[in-house]
Amino acid sequence: MNIERRYKCISKSKLTKKNFITRILCKHELVDDILTSDEGFSWLGGDTHIVHCKKCGFIKGYYTKQYK
Ligand SMILES: [Zn+2]
Repeated sequence: MNIERRYKCISKSKLTKKNFITRILCKHELVDDILTSDEGFSWLGGDTHIVHCKKCGFIKGYYTKQYK
């Protein structure tokens, strides 16, 4: 699987707004971004990465990276 590491800050509400119909027909192009709150802040204690499709908003999964 090909995941583009884009590391752009994105909020979850932005993703879920995307078109549901598009999502069914989509050939997903997955990107790795950093999840922020709707206010644009990143979570305390580490970055939450979100792997999602940049075309339709399908969410593949999350992982966290702790600051050291
Ligand atoms: Zn997609």
